[in-house]
Amino acid sequence: MSERLDCDVVVVGAGLAGLAAARALEASGMRAIVLEARDRVGGRVLNHDLGNGDVVELGGEWIGPGQLRINKIVAELGLETFPTYCEGENLLDLHGRVKRYTGEIPPLPVAALADLGQSQFRFDRLAKRVPVEAPWAADQAVRWDEETFATWVRRNTRTASARYFWEVFSEAVFAAEPQDFSLLYALAYTHAGGGVNSLIGVRNAAQQDRIVGGTQLIAQRLADPLGDGVRLSAPVRRIVQRTDGVKVEADGLEVDARRVIVSIPPVLAGRINYDPLLPARRDQLTQKMPAGSVIKINVIYAEPFWRAEGLSGQVAGDRSPIKFTFDNSPPSGSPGVLVCFLEGAQARIFGRLDAAERRRAVLGSLAGYFGRRAGKPVDYVEQDWSAEEYTRGCYGAHMAPGVMTQFGPVLREPIGRIHWAGTETAGVWSGYMDGALTSGERAAAEVLTAG
Ligand SMILES: Cc1cc2nc3c(=O)[nH]c(=O)nc-3n(C[C@H](O)[C@H](O)[C@H](O)COP(=O)(O)OP(=O)(O)OC[C@H]3O[C@@H](n4cnc5c(N)ncnc54)[C@H](O)[C@@H]3O)c2cc1C
Repeated sequence: MSERLDCDVVVVGAGLAGLAAARALEASGMRAIVLEARDRVGGRVLNHDLGNGDVVELGGEWIGPGQLRINKIVAELGLETFPTYCEGENLLDLHGRVKRYTGEIPPLPVAALADLGQSQFRFDRLAKRVPVEAPWAADQAVRWDEETFATWVRRNTRTASARYFWEVFSEAVFAAEPQDFSLLYALAYTHAGGGVNSLIGVRNAAQQDRIVGGTQLIAQRLADPLGDGVRLSAPVRRIVQRTDGVKVEADGLEVDARRVIVSIPPVLAGRINYDPLLPARRDQLTQKMPAGSVIKINVIYAEPFWRAEGLSGQVAGDRSPIKFTFDNSPPSGSPGVLVCFLEGAQARIFGRLDAAERRRAVLGSLAGYFGRRAGKPVDYVEQDWSAEEYTRGCYGAHMAPGVMTQFGPVLREPIGRIHWAGTETAGVWSGYMDGALTSGERAAAEVLTAG
C-alpha cells in the first residue's frame, strides 16, 4: 500500500533546481512536496568527508563572481566562500617538455599562441551572437547547428597546440568530445557562461571560489526549512495528468497536486512514464540530450607538497589520462588535495577498467606532472557520475547537430500541468549550479503565474 499525500505542487528531484523551486513556492505560500530518488539531497552536488572535519566535493564545486544567483543564495544561507588556491607557478607539460608559468597565458610558441588567440576571438565573437534564452533564434542558428564543434575547430585553427586546447576545453567544460555536440550548442553554452575565459579560468572566472564546508551544504540548507516536505528514497515512476491536477507516483508514495515541476536531467525525465504520453517532440528531446561522461578524482596527500616547490597545483598537459589538475586542499591547506578528472572519451575508456587499474593510470599521470610523491597519496576518492542510477552522466547534457534548432524550443515549454526545471533548462550558466538554481526559480514562477 502506497502512502497518499496531497499538496499544491510536487517537485521531482531534490537537486539544487528542485530545492530552489520548492523554496520559492513555499515563500509564496504554496505547499510543495519534493520527491527525491536518492537517500540524500543535492543530486550532482555531493560532499566527501576527509575525516578531520574538512570536506572535498565529488560533484559541483566552484563558483565564480559572474554567477550572481548562487552567490546571493550562498550569502542568504549563511555560507562562506574561500578562494581556490592558485598562488605560485602553473605547469604546462606538453610533448615531454615542462614549462612553469604564471598568469593566464600558457608559454606556447608564438605561432600556436596567435592561432589560439585568433580562434578564441572568433569563437567568443560568434558566441555573443547567440541569445542564451533562445539559441535556436540566433541569426545563423541553422548553419551553426549543422556542424559539430570539431569541424569548426578544424577549419579555424592551424596548429596542433590550438587544436589540443579546444579538445581539452571541450572535455573540461562539456565532458564530451568536440565531435559530440553542435557548434550552435557550444556557442550557446559558452555565451551562457560569459565566454571562454570565464568558463575555464580561476580568477574572475567560474573556478574562482569554493564553499566552506562544501557545496552540498547549499542543498542541505535549502532543504532544512522544507522539513518533511522533502521525501527521500522516493524515485518517481509515473506522472498522471488530468484536467484538474496531477498524480505523481513514487516508490511507496502517491501525491496529488495541482502541478508538478520535473527537475531532473532530460534523459532521466524521459524514463518516467507519463499518462497521457508526452507529445512526441518533447519525448524526442529527452532522447536527444545525452549527458557527458565524467569521473572526478580527489587525490589526498599529508600536505600540499607542490606549494613548497612554488607550484599552484594547476597543470595543463598531455600525460594521459589526466589533462589538468587543481589544488583542492581545504581552506586550512591540510591535508593537500589535488583534483583531476577523466572526461569525455577518457571517462568512457578508463571507466571500463577496474578501479585499481584506473587508479594506477591516474597516479601515473600525476607522478609524471608533480614527481614521485604525487604517485603515493594517503587517500584516493573517485566518483563516476555516469554509473550513478539517478544521474547517468555529467556535468550536464549536450546537443548533437540539428537538435537545438529542431527541439530546443520545447526545452522549457510546460506540457499542461507539467513544468520543467534543472540546470539543462537554464539560459544563463546552463550546466552549472547557478543555472540549476535559476531554473528552479523560473519554474516556480511559471507555476505561481499559472495558479
Ligand atoms: C563532477 C562534477 C563537477 C561539477 N563541477 C561544477 C562546478 O565546479 N561548478 C558548477 O557550478 N557546477 C558544477 N557541476 C554541475 C552542477 O553540479 C550541476 O549543474 C547541478 O548540481 C545540477 O543541479 P540540478 O538540480 O539541475 O540536477 P541534479 O543535481 O541532477 O538533481 C536532480 C535530482 O533528481 C533526483 N532524481 C533523478 N531521477 C529521479 C526520479 N525519477 N525521481 C525522483 N528524483 C529523481 C536525483 O537524485 C537528483 O537529486 C559539476 C557536476 C559534476 C558531476
